[in-house]
Amino acid sequence: MEFKKCPRCGNFFHSEIDVCQACKTNESLDIQKLKNYFEENDAKEGFTVQELSVQTGINSRNLNRFLLNEEFSEYINNGSSK
Ligand SMILES: [Zn+2]
Repeated sequence: MEFKKCPRCGNFFHSEIDVCQACKTNESLDIQKLKNYFEENDAKEGFTVQELSVQTGINSRNLNRFLLNEEFSEYINNGSSK
């Protein structure tokens, strides 16, 4: 089994999930917040990470990580053509 480094707090841990146990709750809250934000707003417009961070209160480092997820990638205006 491999140790992973938690992207939120930097602790090393063993798990199937992406963050350590201590951060698991905050991680899912942040993701839920982000999903809600996209649902409540016109997600197809495309957002910048900076805007999202201000609007949701999620720090931009975590946002960048979430947005790598395919689930969210369609919402982000990263300047690339589609
Ligand atoms: Zn952690």
